[in-house]
Amino acid sequence: MEVIIKLQYIAIITHWTLVFGPIVFIKILMLAALAYFAYIVLATKRPMASLPKMFQDEKGAKKAHYDVAIVGAGPAGSTLAYYLAKSGRKVLLLEKKKFPRDKYCGDAVCKTAVEILMDMGIYEDLINQKKAHVADSGGLVSPGGLSYIGESLEIMGDVPAAIACKRLHLDNAIAMAAKKAGADLKENSSVSAATLDKSTGLWTLFLEGGVQQTYQARVLACCDGAPSALATKLGIVRTPPQGSCSRAYVEPGTHKFKADGVVIYNKDMLPGYSALFRHPNDELNYCVYIIPGNPQVGNDDLPYWHDNIMKNDPYVSRALGDKAKVERMKVASLRFGGVPRSYGNQVILVGDSAGMIDPMTGEGIHLAMDGGRLAAGFLEEVLTHGNVSREAMEMYHERWMDKFGNDFAWSSRISYLQYKFPILIDAATAAIQRKGDAFMAKWADIMTGRVPKVNLLLPDFVIVVGYELAAIQFRRLHGFASERLRGFASRLKSEEEEEENAKQKEE
Ligand SMILES: Cc1cc2nc3c(=O)[nH]c(=O)nc-3n(C[C@H](O)[C@H](O)[C@H](O)COP(=O)(O)OP(=O)(O)OC[C@H]3O[C@@H](n4cnc5c(N)ncnc54)[C@H](O)[C@@H]3O)c2cc1C
Repeated sequence: MEVIIKLQYIAIITHWTLVFGPIVFIKILMLAALAYFAYIVLATKRPMASLPKMFQDEKGAKKAHYDVAIVGAGPAGSTLAYYLAKSGRKVLLLEKKKFPRDKYCGDAVCKTAVEILMDMGIYEDLINQKKAHVADSGGLVSPGGLSYIGESLEIMGDVPAAIACKRLHLDNAIAMAAKKAGADLKENSSVSAATLDKSTGLWTLFLEGGVQQTYQARVLACCDGAPSALATKLGIVRTPPQGSCSRAYVEPGTHKFKADGVVIYNKDMLPGYSALFRHPNDELNYCVYIIPGNPQVGNDDLPYWHDNIMKNDPYVSRALGDKAKVERMKVASLRFGGVPRSYGNQVILVGDSAGMIDPMTGEGIHLAMDGGRLAAGFLEEVLTHGNVSREAMEMYHERWMDKFGNDFAWSSRISYLQYKFPILIDAATAAIQRKGDAFMAKWADIMTGRVPKVNLLLPDFVIVVGYELAAIQFRRLHGFASERLRGFASRLKSEEEEEENAKQKEE
């Protein structure tokens, strides 16, 4: 994966070198950068085999302890449990709640997660039992009021860009798949502490509420979500989560939202945003994400923004209408961009507890699942080798940072640019309007982490968006609103008039 990321850089630089061929100075600069990245690609990592063998835990052999004890059966923990159990490991999966249980979320499940659900054999059931809905029509509304709602199903092929699935159903399905694969799932089991006995090389896990039962395991995996409570207790995580997000369900039949999923950027709360997502029964999920970067908008302001956008944002207020029955706001935290250290002696962190949330979109289900699958492969390797020391576990951190870290860094940069220059989102939306669904699909692939964010630097994007940027800026400087902006405003107005007329007729 790391090689792929570095190759992406090389492709981008080569592309630009071709575009600016005649300019000697830029050529030299590009060649120097190429040489640097080629050096990084060729630089080798420590091999696992160089670590000494410290224990022998035969796979499948009868033993009192578990190979791995996982705390938390969200998408990260259950995916990790599923793949470890599949590979024949003795796995304990401890969950403090009883399934099916709710988790505050936007319920947007991106393509990578969909592929893993397919691999687990649970995707079809979720769709057939109407517990998940394939998002076909979707789009965005820019801070300046430009909007595009397109259709993605045909372009995306067999695997949809996203599905809407309540966590009540999704997390239950993944946890049950892990159990079926052989993981020992124990619900209503809230872990209060874990201690490592250096003489036996085993963890002992203690449960809350004075429960006498304890469990022993060779490796501990903290998958207990964004607060990262257990890893904080163990001294691995030292900071609180940076962001937060609200969620409120809107009763089916009480709203006017016609699309499957729309992201709405309000210029005063950037780089945060709000989103509407439709469930199979026409119920809506309304979310507001507080993303760090704007000194005027903090986590304490979430209730204000949740309410304000619902009532005053032209797109959201119209999509909900005045009869919408909206659930009371629920809030949970977001830990972005990867924690500095996601490992310790015989312990790793996966999913939100390790900060595996995209710092631009606030999405993390696909990263939790992808991270869980990666962690399973890694743990299988170290357990087979017989070394789960801190040094070995550091390789896990390097591996997932190789996979997600580069994208997280770009997400943070783009997020900052969005806050500083909202016009960039206007320009991107104008480009999508001009180019249509195929361009929208490319955009969605980048936003959902399918394709590295650095691809936004490719000439395809820079030239098209740059052109729209110049056009919008020119129009603004010359004091007339973009036709498309005016189109949006007048469309809202005419729809309002239509509704007013219909109301009068009814009366
Ligand atoms: C409001 C909101 C909206 C979001 N919207 C989206 C979205 O639309 N799409 C998206 O991709 N991401 C979204 N995210 C992010 C997404 O929810 C997370 O990235 C994802 O849930 C991470 O999964 P996880 O398994 O790491 O953690 P979690 O889903 O938080 O699971 C942690 C599990 O650990 C259990 N647990 C906690 N403590 C203990 C303990 N002591 N003992 C035993 N068990 C314990 C919990 O009960 C829970 O089951 C949103 C987040 C929020 C807050």
